[in-house]
Amino acid sequence: MLPPSRTPPSTPALAPTPDPLTPDRDITHEHFQAGDQVVVIKGVAGKELWGDAVRVVAPSWHTPTDEDGWRLRDPDGGAQTFITAHPRYLVHLSRHCPDCLIYLRAMADHLLPRFAGHDDAVIDCGWYTITTLGQLVHVADARGGR
Ligand SMILES: [Zn+2]
Repeated sequence: MLPPSRTPPSTPALAPTPDPLTPDRDITHEHFQAGDQVVVIKGVAGKELWGDAVRVVAPSWHTPTDEDGWRLRDPDGGAQTFITAHPRYLVHLSRHCPDCLIYLRAMADHLLPRFAGHDDAVIDCGWYTITTLGQLVHVADARGGR
């Protein structure tokens, strides 16, 4: 399976879509380490997944979940170059990783058929927001918190 493409050049269309997989993902904090290249899956571009490619910088407390997270550097992040994410939001790009591939494949199986008719469309599934304190929050983790 191909790795997901990075942020596509065209502006994604927002299409809020259920994501039952990410919240249930069983991945430890130690699965990642500083320096890892990872991607946060955001949606579908044509016939593949796409996301924001970021680099893992350092351990950081993820306040929305009250769990250990990772501080990330987003080279395209502008004012929010550094954000903090929960490990389950992250997928390895930097090395072949069976655990992350299983998740990617499950996400592709879940999402791609939903947008099968939108050949070249870029879809943002609307899962993530960033708080004013630079915390990346999945919609499932934001429930009740806002
Ligand atoms: Zn991995």
